[in-house]
Amino acid sequence: QIINPIERPQVTQALSENVILTTVDDLYNWARLSSLWPLLYGTACCFIEFAALIGSRFDFDRFGLIPRSSPRQADLIITAGTINMKMAPALVRLYEQMPDPKYVIAMGACTITGGMFTVDSPTTVRGVDKLIPVDVYLPGCPPRPEAIIDAIIKLRKKIANDSMQERGKQGQTHRYYSIAHK
Ligand code: SF4
Repeated sequence: QIINPIERPQVTQALSENVILTTVDDLYNWARLSSLWPLLYGTACCFIEFAALIGSRFDFDRFGLIPRSSPRQADLIITAGTINMKMAPALVRLYEQMPDPKYVIAMGACTITGGMFTVDSPTTVRGVDKLIPVDVYLPGCPPRPEAIIDAIIKLRKKIANDSMQERGKQGQTHRYYSIAHK
């Protein structure tokens, strides 16, 4: 069909019917949110729920999530369990070894605030966001696999609105890195 470019409504209609207009950001974001690869990282009981999520009943592979054992191959870390001071440098190192762009879901009360260990444990990190930047907080003790799926959906929505340029400007520095070395 030959379209006279002067007849703009016809041109517009032809474009909307035949051409998918998108931005580079949208394309990148779609690719990233469709293939998040989480690092297998669990330090306490929360990880049992995360392990259940990997099984066939919850089938989280349908979101394109494939668990990885190496931080070099992961772009998501779900911190499942209590983080203590001894573990902190290892966690920071693992995070730094992950390629950008990378994301963090803080899973469970212990990870988010120190949980019940805040009462009298001087060795518990009171919030993983003191070590690495957190994208989604997932409260609970422990959060159920369905709640983890909800957190992943929230993260996917966040990534969908991400801008590569803005993310690069933010930097990936952890604010209280010194805590990890005390
Ligand atoms: Fe265990 Fe609850 Fe702490 Fe998760 S939040 S690590 S389930 S005590």
